[in-house]
Amino acid sequence: MVLRGFLILSKPILQLKEVNKTYINENETIIALNNISIDFPSKKISMVVGPSGSGKSTLLRIAGLLEKCSSGSVIFDGKDQTNPDPQDRLYLIRNKIGFLPPYKNLFDYLTLLENVMLPMTIKDLELTMETLKKMGVKNINSYPEYVSLEDQQKAALARSIINKPQMILMDEPTSILSKSSSIKIMELIQSLKESYSIIIFTDNVQLTKYSDEVFKLNNGELV
Ligand code: ADP
Ligand code: MG
Repeated sequence: MVLRGFLILSKPILQLKEVNKTYINENETIIALNNISIDFPSKKISMVVGPSGSGKSTLLRIAGLLEKCSSGSVIFDGKDQTNPDPQDRLYLIRNKIGFLPPYKNLFDYLTLLENVMLPMTIKDLELTMETLKKMGVKNINSYPEYVSLEDQQKAALARSIINKPQMILMDEPTSILSKSSSIKIMELIQSLKESYSIIIFTDNVQLTKYSDEVFKLNNGELV
């Protein structure tokens, strides 16, 4: 349906308003984030790009309700979650927000299948197998060390979506992959944006071609 003259804006999945984060280490105060305000759109791929130390992982932890900001507010799906009730917070982290941590992040002593099933409260074998199949992972009963890094990352991606979250936060999703594997993983991530709101945190500016929105971070500030 085309509505001429109307701009239909969908509600952002996540809004950060004047977010600050400082760490105090011994006698030193580190300003990790300085006055960050961003609206992350729904069902799009947003990227936060910046060099090492610019505050990406700190921003990811605050966006994912893992860590609190020093000041400012965090609004997820229209609701203020700056100081969430602990039960609500755990519910959101478990069911509404998916995480793809950086580097190798599967449990070595669990098979790919078991790794993907891990976050499920009620283990759904059929859904897990179907999700891994869609990702193109065949060796689902292998332990991570016996499969390629690409298949490990596909399994990690499957694990991040297995509880059907609304938003997925991805920290450096291609940093340990070869160029050809990176392309395959980014194409897979693109295929997910119809169903999920995705935020990628990376120092690799090459990845911005896969994004709908780019936010540049330097020294804890938006640039
Ligand atoms: P990036 O992910 O872009 O590399 P980080 O968010 O990890 O950046 O770090 C931003 C800054 O905050 C760095 O100076 C880092 O040393 C500091 N920092 C991050 N987490 C902590 C912490 N828990 N304690 C002290 N300093 C931290
Ligand atoms: Mg980081």
